[in-house]
Amino acid sequence: RAKAEGRNTFRFFEAAMDEAVEERRRLELDLRLALQRGEFELHYQPILDIASGAITSAEALVRWRHPTRGLVPPGTFIPLAEETGLIVPLGEWVLRAATHDARRWPAHVSVAVNVSALQVRHGHLVRTVRAALEATGLPARRLELEITESALMTDNEHVCEVLHDLRGLGVRIALDDFGTGYSSLSYLRQFPFDKLKIDRSFISGIRDPETAAIVRAIVALGTSLGMVVTAEGIETPEQFALARAEGCTTAQGYLIGRPCAAGDVLAAVLPGAAARAARR
Ligand code: C2E
Ligand code: MG
Ligand code: MG
Ligand code: MG
Repeated sequence: RAKAEGRNTFRFFEAAMDEAVEERRRLELDLRLALQRGEFELHYQPILDIASGAITSAEALVRWRHPTRGLVPPGTFIPLAEETGLIVPLGEWVLRAATHDARRWPAHVSVAVNVSALQVRHGHLVRTVRAALEATGLPARRLELEITESALMTDNEHVCEVLHDLRGLGVRIALDDFGTGYSSLSYLRQFPFDKLKIDRSFISGIRDPETAAIVRAIVALGTSLGMVVTAEGIETPEQFALARAEGCTTAQGYLIGRPCAAGDVLAAVLPGAAARAARR
């Protein structure tokens, strides 16, 4: 009996696997078509400069307006886009759309764009970025590229060269989700980062004295190397107060503002927007 049950469990498992594979295939096909059909859109999340109290940038976060699935968050399709290489054309679209949108924002507001490891390694990123800046007329200093540590893990020399070339264009570079992944301090020696973004997991735990000590150490490290240090994922006034007390220079999170549609971003970045958000 145990054997028969085992067999049934296996069949059930197999069927579930088939379904998962099928679902993935469907998603991949959909993803290819989505790019042609223009189903992607960018939402923007404001980032606050703590000292001045002004919104000085907004991060572009891609969403997929799927005809039947609704608004799909990036966690569901970015990994697949990376595996299939579709992230390269998708990333080009994101860069073009974000620089285009940011051109209409006040001149003191920058736009931050996430780039994947694959774009850095195989995506002609320097050429793509230069083309986006030229096509939209956005000054390079108003564009910031966010990359995660995993992008740095392989082929360091080439990645390093790409980052230096991007820097040469006048674009700023942020290390995203810092403290997760395989943080290596040697990255900070090899790459010319302008900004460190402390991962949300440290901010959500910042009440804990040990976690606060880690945040303090990251801030000391970042600021002594001349980097801006951003606290990601600020949800409560207490987290904001603690992040500020530990010396974070910029803040991002639902408390300051949720990601909003491109049409609403102007109101979210105009002077006074941060104060209005804080009163909510
Ligand atoms: P990320 O770059 O670290 O972006 C921050 C994520 O945290 C966003 O999720 C944002 O909505 C969420 N977030 C912001 N504040 C809070 C908060 O206070 N609480 C909580 N719980 N979450 C908060 P989202 O939009 O789902 O994006 C997830 C990830 O997808 C991004 O993480 C980024 O790695 C990736 N991603 C998004 N857009 C792009 C893109 O255009 N290209 C690439 N390559 N990756 C992208
Ligand atoms: Mg990011
Ligand atoms: Mg992040
Ligand atoms: Mg993240």
